Amino acid sequence: MQKFSVDSNGYYGEFGGAFVPEILYKCVKDLENSYLRILESEKFKREFEQLLRDYVGRPSPLYLSQQLSERFGCRIYLKREDLNHTGAHKINNAIGQILIAREMGKTRIIAETGAGQHGVAAATVCALMQMPCTVYMGKTDVERQAVNVKKMEMLGATVVPVTSGNMTLKDATNEAIRDWCSHPEETHYIIGSTIGPHPYPDLVARLQSVISKEIKVQLMEKEGRDYPDYLVACVGGGSNAAGTIYEYLDNDRVKIVLAEAGGKGVDSGYSAATIQLGTIGVLHGCKTLLMQTEDGQITEPYSISAGLDYPGVGPIHANLASQHRARVLPINDDEALRAAFELTRKEGIIPALESAHALAALEKVDFDPDDVVVLTLSGRGDKDLETYFKYENQF
Ligand SMILES: *Cc1c(COP(=O)(O)O)cnc(C)c1O
Repeated sequence: MQKFSVDSNGYYGEFGGAFVPEILYKCVKDLENSYLRILESEKFKREFEQLLRDYVGRPSPLYLSQQLSERFGCRIYLKREDLNHTGAHKINNAIGQILIAREMGKTRIIAETGAGQHGVAAATVCALMQMPCTVYMGKTDVERQAVNVKKMEMLGATVVPVTSGNMTLKDATNEAIRDWCSHPEETHYIIGSTIGPHPYPDLVARLQSVISKEIKVQLMEKEGRDYPDYLVACVGGGSNAAGTIYEYLDNDRVKIVLAEAGGKGVDSGYSAATIQLGTIGVLHGCKTLLMQTEDGQITEPYSISAGLDYPGVGPIHANLASQHRARVLPINDDEALRAAFELTRKEGIIPALESAHALAALEKVDFDPDDVVVLTLSGRGDKDLETYFKYENQF
């Protein structure tokens, strides 16, 4: 795991680090000093494994899709994170982090959310552990995602609409960091993806690595070898992708294909293809590729899929792309929609719009007949039904 995992300074190549206000320095340092010890403790492992099994419903199945296999002329497996409790991979991370928060004596949880998926996962584990939860969400997103707001409130969380900036995820994250600065002692900030200051990207990647640990066992059973030829996943901040590739980073027989949101087209001005379009800068505590103007103003990302329109990307993935370990493909809205309808009609599985970007990436790769491909279906499409209904006649 040497070349592509985090170094002792919290960097992946030139990306990563911990750029936090003075007042948070101790909090971040405490987490850095504790997380590996907690993750490796028997108590944590026992509780985490038990909750993943009995509460989340893991292991998630590895499903051989006959239809996709025929269409692409190789063997294509879907890693079914869509079948998890709350409908996506995000719960894996939320459960892990709340166990860590409890172990560190924290009594209060905060989180940021864009579309609301991470907010719902955080509110869910807070209900489970009976901890108070405050979720920061841009006012624009609060209006766009009313069902998720209601869900979080029903779960007992307080949702705070943020009215600064464009009133979206970036602004919600700023507000969450401000809250953390005001209550650093008792608060744990559950970050929802492989972003933020070190050690968050590494912590989230380790918690999501259960995905690739299961893939290894499941492929061994089904294929007689524990690695695929290709791994395919979508990238917003990068957590489902990080979990999918974690165990295979140093296995160069395994090719990594990542799908990021092209929006209406990489050059259209409406895109969230951060790895294609980004330049290096600091956002939310880490140095990574960002969508920004020449003078460092963050530009608002766009994607039909709310979970992929983040202006940055995890430092892990920025490094994998710059080292050419991963091939990164921008997928446009219409390509993702077409792939979503195809999976729905051919397999009876309605995928999340984010996951549909990974499905659309299959079209852009030349597979050999012997290839074994594992694609992570990060979530289910229930939350995207309104969008699907709107476009149904076009596909
Ligand atoms: C949030 C989300 C994503 C994007 O987040 P990552 O951290 O990049 O995984 C992808 N798929 C689904 C279903 C999501 O909810």
